[in-house]
Amino acid sequence: MPYDARVRAADHGRVVALAGGVGAARFLRGLVEVVDPANLVVVGNTGDDLTRHGLRVCPDLDTVCYTLGGGVHREQGWGREGERFTVADELADRYGEDRWFTLGDRDLATHLVRTRMLAEGATLSQATATIARAWKLGFRLLPMSDDEVTTRIVTTDGRDLHFQEWWVRERAVPDVAEVRFAGVERARAAPGVLEAVGGADRVLLCPSNPVVSLGPILAVPGLREALADAHVVGVSPIVGGAVVRGMADRLLPAWGVETSAVGVASLYADLLDGWVVDEVDRGRAGEVAALGVDVAVTHTIMRDVEVAGALARTALELG
Ligand code: GDP
Ligand code: CA
Repeated sequence: MPYDARVRAADHGRVVALAGGVGAARFLRGLVEVVDPANLVVVGNTGDDLTRHGLRVCPDLDTVCYTLGGGVHREQGWGREGERFTVADELADRYGEDRWFTLGDRDLATHLVRTRMLAEGATLSQATATIARAWKLGFRLLPMSDDEVTTRIVTTDGRDLHFQEWWVRERAVPDVAEVRFAGVERARAAPGVLEAVGGADRVLLCPSNPVVSLGPILAVPGLREALADAHVVGVSPIVGGAVVRGMADRLLPAWGVETSAVGVASLYADLLDGWVVDEVDRGRAGEVAALGVDVAVTHTIMRDVEVAGALARTALELG
């Protein structure tokens, strides 16, 4: 069901969504049902980005494109449906390249287009716009920055790993001492990001990893300042004291934050006007309200697009 003015409850004006990968993409599938995509700007995390086999890979931006464009691997929530690994097999079997972060054949096409454009001097914003257009996204997808920002995980055994090395290669087993966003001090927000936030009627924090997905975006210089004057509503990625998927529970302790809907709200308390928590966390709504934040309690497990749409509507109408 495409966006249809007849099913729209209210005109929510200009909306900006700050997004990580899988959780965010599922939320956005609902959001585009209740707002006009022409009035939506999505700002994506690029802290997870890495170079593999010489190709620039942007996992969170690609997850948004594949999901909203209808090409995502459904059960997995990321990567392409109907994927094959001919190239990955050849790289490993013939050339002995390690395969801890495998790129499928179809997925490779995206990274080839992006890497070619970057090599020709395009910015990441320009490459992202080209890819988003190919996936027929009706909204603007902006990387948080055109400058390289890399999430680094310092482990308690003293290693400094790329986020993907810690998460994909080491399966989030090593305990985390510190999370850094290398390069962020010098990074500038991508063209249009601060302007979109400044002109938004609503800014939504998608249910994304608060440390490694929303963390890098909020660390971009100027972002928090721009959000201070905006109407900001978030959806808790933590339900009943546990992650729905992913490894936020391995990272929040490094920031001294409880793995709970209240703990994550406290991370953004200075920015938030509203916070949406799951029915199972109803008993803790008072603690969120005590932070000075309006609370909505609803179903937040996005098992289908209808639930995601209702969740998006709740977030838009809060605060
Ligand atoms: P990643 O970049 O692929 O890790 O994806 P995100 O950063 O968007 O998100 C992972 C976060 O989204 C985790 O903290 C999950 O618990 C949360 N998440 C995933 N699916 C859902 C859902 O259906 N509902 C809610 N409330 N949170 C979700
Ligand atoms: Ca991610």
